[in-house]
Amino acid sequence: MTDLLEFRREVETWFRDNRPPDPGFLLPESFMEVGNDAQFAYLRDWQRKIYQAGYLGMAWPEAYGGGGRPQAYQDIVNAEMARQKVPFVPNTIGLNWAGPLILAIGTEADKQRYIRGILNADDIWCQGFSEPDQGSDLANTQTRAIRDGDEYVVNGSKIWTSLGSYAKYMILLARTNPEQRRYGGLSYFLVPMQVPGIEARPIRKLTGEYGFNQTFFNDARIPASCLMGQEGEGWKIAMTTLTFERGASGGQAGGLARVSMGVGDVVDLAQRSRRDGRPALEDPFVRDQLVRFLIEDQGDQLCAARAAIPALCSERPEAIALSGKLRVTEHRRRMTQFALSLQGGHAARWIGDAQAVEGGKWQRAYLNSFASTIGGGTSQIQANIIGERVLGLPKD
Ligand SMILES: Cc1cc2nc3c(=O)[nH]c(=O)nc-3n(C[C@H](O)[C@H](O)[C@H](O)COP(=O)(O)OP(=O)(O)OC[C@H]3O[C@@H](n4cnc5c(N)ncnc54)[C@H](O)[C@@H]3O)c2cc1C
Repeated sequence: MTDLLEFRREVETWFRDNRPPDPGFLLPESFMEVGNDAQFAYLRDWQRKIYQAGYLGMAWPEAYGGGGRPQAYQDIVNAEMARQKVPFVPNTIGLNWAGPLILAIGTEADKQRYIRGILNADDIWCQGFSEPDQGSDLANTQTRAIRDGDEYVVNGSKIWTSLGSYAKYMILLARTNPEQRRYGGLSYFLVPMQVPGIEARPIRKLTGEYGFNQTFFNDARIPASCLMGQEGEGWKIAMTTLTFERGASGGQAGGLARVSMGVGDVVDLAQRSRRDGRPALEDPFVRDQLVRFLIEDQGDQLCAARAAIPALCSERPEAIALSGKLRVTEHRRRMTQFALSLQGGHAARWIGDAQAVEGGKWQRAYLNSFASTIGGGTSQIQANIIGERVLGLPKD
């Protein structure tokens, strides 16, 4: 315990002393909006520095570059990064879903080959699950990977590939058996992105930023050793990946995936905004709404703390983790929308407008807030999952 308290002080000092200087350009809000080389280089260097200081992958095995320490140390680092609002680290897909997956079910060779590069940001990872005609209905995946000797030949297209332009590897779900429909014919691959026939084309977002791509596979040949598990096991492995992505399984390497405005920032905004010539914070309606946000925020934090103590969740072990994504992302969406409503007519201003409140960051935060309510499973899908798995409701 004393050790952890001392460690917390050490971490607090390190992040205060080593925060990278302001880059002089607008940083993205999360790993899903890294859209140009300058942003990418700045964030990758920052991840490297944190890793070199020993503050990433602290609970991953030392043999592969991790710290070999209890998870509690990484939790302290994550909390301190969020508290100090330091920039996020870009390799979220590697650190938080591909990495834990490889450690859980990968071969020894996979672990030796991939884990260190994930931690030190040499190897950025992306995820090839969604397709232009199927996102929520993942079992209907149409991209094909057909075995040809020691290789698979991949054809098709994936979409919304976050970090696709910077990734060295992709976790790919593809159909190896076109005869089988839905779950049975799917397989899972760890795919090198820099091979002929794979092209990631950036897509412009609602905010004007970039960050995700449409990825095309045109007779791309990948080594057969890229297959994870056995042919036909893709669905099971994809579902395991999603438990990491949605936070239902632990084992992530840590680091922030985004820098978010919190309830405290909305309270500050309400203090500075005016309603009928007075601070908006004095308006009973505004106060009422802020108190609701504060209660929700506190509830989310307490739920996260409770989820870490199995004895407190034995009745419905999955409930907190599964509801976490839904609660937190919808909370952020409503909160940023409310922050805009505090700005009155200025809500319509955008980044670059000298009169935009706080440089237009709330506008960008509001538009970006939809991303997490869609990515990793939409709110409707998440609600369905909770209904079925936690509440035991019928599938229909
Ligand atoms: C910012 C961002 C980053 C992303 N990054 C990646 C990435 O890196 N890799 C990747 O593979 N994908 C990524 N995605 C894609 C994401 O996983 C999909 O957008 C998501 O799964 C939804 O799929 P869809 O867009 O095809 O919508 P659809 O599945 O077409 O859904 C459309 C609407 O119908 C609703 N709906 C669908 N089925 C049901 C149902 N059974 N019950 C109730 N409602 C339903 C949905 O909730 C939604 O409102 C990203 C998405 C975003 C927004």
